[in-house]
Amino acid sequence: MDNRGESRVSESIERILLDKETIQNRIRELGSQITQDYAGKRLHLIAILKGASIFHADIVRSIALEISFDFIAVGSYGKLTQSSGEVRILKDLDESPEGKDVLLVEDIVDTGLTLHYLVRTLKERHPKSLKIASLLSKPARRKIDVPVDYIGFEIPDEFVVGYGLDYDQRYRNLPDIRILRLKT
Ligand code: 5GP
Repeated sequence: MDNRGESRVSESIERILLDKETIQNRIRELGSQITQDYAGKRLHLIAILKGASIFHADIVRSIALEISFDFIAVGSYGKLTQSSGEVRILKDLDESPEGKDVLLVEDIVDTGLTLHYLVRTLKERHPKSLKIASLLSKPARRKIDVPVDYIGFEIPDEFVVGYGLDYDQRYRNLPDIRILRLKT
């Protein structure tokens, strides 16, 4: 790759923040809670690509309800670790959420800008109800308040990778969540 003109960034995994077992146990708890809260209903999950794909794949299997699901992709951070605040839809839903009990599945809520935008956009499409499940939340970084109904873990203000979360499209396949240190 030609790196001319780009500042060199070295990256290193500092430590594991959440191990595999801790993540899986918490997902089972969230799945039971969601199963209870939506008892007797059919649930439509919308996972936000690509980061939430792994969390979504695990949580759907811990929900004992009739479910359907869809995917939406929004503009990602690319190599950056700071939100630009600009959100755009890269891949829209296949099905209309109108009249459905929708659960939006996210990997991490950081500033809240992505979810704020998506909630506004989805509400315009008239779901019967709309709730949010996010595996991670960084409350210290919030710029805009978004009501997250199901949170896996609140984490400190660190850049994390693994379990679906990337840096420059890498690390998504790690089974745990790790802190990445970036040095310029
Ligand atoms: P927000 O709009 O809430 O600032 O950012 C949400 C998106 O930013 C997440 O879906 C995720 O793609 C990205 N993001 C925020 N914090 C982190 C982080 O610590 N690690 C990674 N890999 N992505 C993050």
